Amino acid sequence: MTTKISHPFSHLGPAPYRFVSASCSDDRQAAMNERKNEGLVYSENTSGSCDHCGMCIQDFYYFRAADGTKFKVGSVCYEKGFISEETYADRKALAQATTAKREMATKKRHSKEAAKISEALEFFKANQEALDAAPHPRFSSKSLNDYTSYMWDQCGTTGKIKLYKTVKEALEA
Ligand SMILES: [Zn+2]
Repeated sequence: MTTKISHPFSHLGPAPYRFVSASCSDDRQAAMNERKNEGLVYSENTSGSCDHCGMCIQDFYYFRAADGTKFKVGSVCYEKGFISEETYADRKALAQATTAKREMATKKRHSKEAAKISEALEFFKANQEALDAAPHPRFSSKSLNDYTSYMWDQCGTTGKIKLYKTVKEALEA
């Protein structure tokens, strides 16, 4: 006697499932802005809910069921959905979704860093006088502005963000 285990996603369409694509809210915002600029129909709403559990989700993972039905779920549900029922797990779909998840996380980190870098540059530009008036942490003949310019050129992204925080704190102290 065999017992057929039903996949948690079977209410969305029959197994096996294929991974289609993933999108984060920034992706959807960018796509929408493009449509807006081209004068096409667009919606301001970039949020959505998981087709499996109904929860509001930020990152969409699209899958296609064996009958062609496309559905989207959140990361918690795709992980649970594919891991909980070993029998029907589509390892490839799971692996592809996980890769997409990692890529989105990297992209989000990079865009956050880029925003911080431009915030720092704006701050330095807006506070030139204060930076010129403040003392260099090591040399009495130099200013905090000299220090900042020198360090900015030496540092990588993480260092620049740290420098911005340090300089901002020094000015506000
Ligand atoms: Zn869900």
